Amino acid sequence: MAAESIIVSCPHCGAKNRLPANRWGDGRAVCGRCKSPLPPSRLYPDRPVRITDNTFAGEVLGFEGPVLVEFFSPRCGHCQRLAPVLYDLASAYAGKVKFVTLDIDQDHMIASQQGVNGTPTLFFYNRGRLVDRVVGAVPREELVRHLEGLKG
Ligand SMILES: [Zn+2]
Repeated sequence: MAAESIIVSCPHCGAKNRLPANRWGDGRAVCGRCKSPLPPSRLYPDRPVRITDNTFAGEVLGFEGPVLVEFFSPRCGHCQRLAPVLYDLASAYAGKVKFVTLDIDQDHMIASQQGVNGTPTLFFYNRGRLVDRVVGAVPREELVRHLEGLKG
């Protein structure tokens, strides 16, 4: 997972930057061409990006569009089965829905505030408001239904 990289378009000059996915979320990434900061909260990555309790507010509540948040545990078999589905859907919905994941073994504050008590749990936000939720590793078609319901 640490070796995964993502393509991020610079909002300033439009250059496409390839960044390690784990670096991109730290808020310090800059464009290789013009050195402008690449603000994660304004962008839709083409795959799920890790967030933490500390970045949740900026990445999810402060985001102007739809966000899918996966609360997961690395030890959870259902999460491991769901991961490739989420990767695939993040790519299919790139530019439309932002996908983020929160490891609740490392960061449990937001999860417990939100009443998450199992993994995987998916929360759907739109413009900072929790609008939908799914518990468990549901089939792809069901996720698509929820994602379609997020738009508009
Ligand atoms: Zn740039």
